[in-house]
Amino acid sequence: MIPYHPDSLDDYSQQSDNAINSDENRPDKPEEACGVFGIYAPGEDVAKLTYFGLYALQHRGQESAGIATFEGTKVHLHKDMGLVSQVFNETVLQELPGNLAVGHTRYSTTGSSRKVNAQPAVVETSLGSLALAHNGNLVNTVELREQLLKNKCNLVTTTDSEMIAFAIAEEVNAGANWLDATMEACRRCQGAFSLVIGTPDGVMGVRDPNGIRPLVIGLLAGEPDRYVLASETCGLDIIGAEYVRDVQPGELVWINEEGLTSIQWHQQTQRKLCIFEMIYFARPDSLMHDETLYSYRMRLGRRLAAESLVEADLVFGVPDSGIPAAIGFSQASGIAYGEGLIKNRYVGRTFIQPTQSMRESGLRMKLNPLKDVLVGKRVVIVDDSIVRGTTSRKLVKTLREAGAAEVHMRISSPPVTHPCFYGIDTDTQDQLIAATKSVEEIAKQLEVDTLAYLSWEGMLETTREDTNSFCSACFTGDYPVAIPEQVKRSKLILEKVVV
Ligand code: SF4
Repeated sequence: MIPYHPDSLDDYSQQSDNAINSDENRPDKPEEACGVFGIYAPGEDVAKLTYFGLYALQHRGQESAGIATFEGTKVHLHKDMGLVSQVFNETVLQELPGNLAVGHTRYSTTGSSRKVNAQPAVVETSLGSLALAHNGNLVNTVELREQLLKNKCNLVTTTDSEMIAFAIAEEVNAGANWLDATMEACRRCQGAFSLVIGTPDGVMGVRDPNGIRPLVIGLLAGEPDRYVLASETCGLDIIGAEYVRDVQPGELVWINEEGLTSIQWHQQTQRKLCIFEMIYFARPDSLMHDETLYSYRMRLGRRLAAESLVEADLVFGVPDSGIPAAIGFSQASGIAYGEGLIKNRYVGRTFIQPTQSMRESGLRMKLNPLKDVLVGKRVVIVDDSIVRGTTSRKLVKTLREAGAAEVHMRISSPPVTHPCFYGIDTDTQDQLIAATKSVEEIAKQLEVDTLAYLSWEGMLETTREDTNSFCSACFTGDYPVAIPEQVKRSKLILEKVVV
């Protein structure tokens, strides 16, 4: 759900040009854009259940959160900047009564970090209000915006999500029912979209024809059936809902008092789940392809060890996301697993600039080395990915200063060479270290003794699924949904774009 800036497509590439979002403060990782949640459960405290669902999905977006509930035709909405636990309290939740709810938690880059862009987006129609929560990113926003403005649509925010909500409203106002209106609006959209949409009559869950972003269905115990939608299964677990299945690519599910109805709204579908969800974004305790991502990530580590073994005394992961792969690496290599870095788990993103001396001391605010464990050791440090390389470099320096004799870095995914256009903030191509440097050059820049990435085949084969059923465009540039040239220009700075 990257914001659309009407005046300049280049704003896509300028999102990082901000003092707050400076390199010191920006995580050196791709950032997930959103988590969505929906529930139809008359008689339950739907606002509170949605709150906890969002609480479990907090890793998918930490800058704003919102919940819309429907009490008959009346919609109640609360959204604000901040973490889920900061935006909501008991009093606020009590003011959100209803039979059904839609929730959203959002990451946005700084330029768009405004309350008005928080979701759900609520739009009035001739059938009543609709509240829409979106995970993903459209690639045809220019075209869609032009259509909507031509039809005198009063767009309030700068987000593609609001455009989808208005497109549905247009179809409703032209006489369509909720389902036909949503399907028609989705046909006007290109890109990645997992949607949860609340209406006075029920909740819809929709996935784009490629299923790029995840969306799962759960069921609360008891009668009658009360269905839940969430970006990941961890959003179901927290409220005791049982995982039923994924919403399929190109499918719309309609949940109301009669239960769940499935409609295939798009016939030409393919499976192109974002592989980065499996490697890094989604929580390790979430299920994808019938196993936890912890298990997949551990296998990635085993494969990594098989592909790039090195003699060493100790292996550890960069907390927390590198840990499962480090355990797998240790299992396959026989090198002892331990901890080399301790993470301060109580810090979030800071908006206070560190002092110069703190900046020089690198990462210590978040990660602190265990000096007596590291001293004199040949260590293998495992991470899930390298984006810009700034954090990795500081990390290596920290380990050496702590006394490590050799530092070998192993990455449980291939080099990230291309930006994402489907809802993940991976910077522009010129910011990606692997887009311009060879592995040897990166190793030199990071000052490691050796560096190895997992192969692209290794990453996909380790899924144990059809290797064609994933988007891996940020490793290959092979985008499953064509990117319009003017959008490409904004991020593919190194590649010659034909206009
Ligand atoms: S380009 Fe990369 S981050 Fe974006 S959807 Fe594809 S695999 Fe995921």
